[in-house]
Amino acid sequence: MSKQLIRVYHNLDFEDVRAHTLEYGVLSGICSKCKHLNVRLEDIGCPQCGTSFKYIAFQSVREHLPKLLRISQERSGVQFIDYQDFKRIEGEQKARSILG
Ligand SMILES: [Zn+2]
Repeated sequence: MSKQLIRVYHNLDFEDVRAHTLEYGVLSGICSKCKHLNVRLEDIGCPQCGTSFKYIAFQSVREHLPKLLRISQERSGVQFIDYQDFKRIEGEQKARSILG
């Protein structure tokens, strides 16, 4: 068996994604629900609002590939989502709510 990372497109409920994503930058993460800063990659939930992280969006997957592989082995329930997709949809929803 040769396991490789291949991106798959899923139809996800964005309300769920927005409430349970850890946005991970270079050194630390942000909770997508309450925007709490300095969340650690090891945190399975937000230290501030307590939401569980079902999704992780790495700003730079290439930079964090070893971490991604480790987490995918250790935490089978976590799904990795595309950061660009996440920010694009979040932006679209924000614009829509402003325009009414
Ligand atoms: Zn939070």
